[in-house]
Amino acid sequence: MSIVVENLTKKYGEQKAVNDISFEIKTGEVVGFLGPNGAGKSTTMKIITCFMAPSSGDVRLDNVSIHSDPEAIKKKIGYLPENNPLYLDMPVVEYLRFSAEIQGVPKSKIPSRIAEMIDRCGLDREKHKNINELSKGYRQRVGLAQAMIHDPEILILDEPTTGLDPNQIVEIRKLIKDLGKEKTVILSSHILSEVEATCDRILIINRGRIAADGTSDTLRSQSQGQELLKVSIEASPEEVEKAVRSLANVEKVTPIDGKVGWFNVQSKPDASSRKEIFDLCVNNKWYLMEMTGLETRLEDVFQKLTK
Ligand code: ADP
Ligand code: MG
Repeated sequence: MSIVVENLTKKYGEQKAVNDISFEIKTGEVVGFLGPNGAGKSTTMKIITCFMAPSSGDVRLDNVSIHSDPEAIKKKIGYLPENNPLYLDMPVVEYLRFSAEIQGVPKSKIPSRIAEMIDRCGLDREKHKNINELSKGYRQRVGLAQAMIHDPEILILDEPTTGLDPNQIVEIRKLIKDLGKEKTVILSSHILSEVEATCDRILIINRGRIAADGTSDTLRSQSQGQELLKVSIEASPEEVEKAVRSLANVEKVTPIDGKVGWFNVQSKPDASSRKEIFDLCVNNKWYLMEMTGLETRLEDVFQKLTK
């Protein structure tokens, strides 16, 4: 099931929390909304899930508009809202039964759906406990089970790993990755490694707009542009610095602090200085101890785009 978002805007008073954004998500994609706090991720999700109306613009799921049939859309979507609101004094099984009824799962199918969710989300040992007795990680699993109880084609998960410890994060990510094999998934996060670990595609959202859209590799290479090398040469550092700086493809040479004979070398756009550096060392009988390319880190891309 595909999602088309068209010129979506949401105003709170004068503030545009979401500012004229458009994008498409194809069936089966796992997409991450990545952005700092206040970027507009949750607002966008609330509109797609029909929990809130936009100020203007449209969202269509397989050509059904949120303006024409919100109830039909809600049935196709599983939603884990921000902060995972749950009824804490209900036992897990009762809560899932309640969620299934609200979502209109036929009565005869409710027990099998509950059993499947308990199994899928690893809740078997906790299923008779009250939700307030569960750890944060297990509550999150209940939130996911609730979101999937009616077997929706689309899952929208708002910050699904917030507040979990590292082991729980790994488990929930694995679960989301598994779900992504059969469903269209949108999840939000302000943590880069999170979307990189779980998503096929990343939409960087900043101040209500889309700042970038692509796989982690494309985003990295888009912002890369120039080659950056780390080089270690055994010879007089002053001589080396001067000689490397004068190479045709080199734009900038920076000695690395505290490491004698080590330099960061930035090449000119679309050029590589690897061969030049190698030849320079050979001609001067210098020992080239190391030469490695430094990758642009996704953190840097993110920071650059959301500054
Ligand atoms: P994110 O989920 O990316 O952190 P949100 O969508 O929650 O961002 O919020 C986007 C912006 O809209 C923020 O500046 C936030 O303060 C504002 N905002 C969100 N909800 C409301 C609201 N109910 N009333 C007024 N402003 C809001
Ligand atoms: Mg949010």
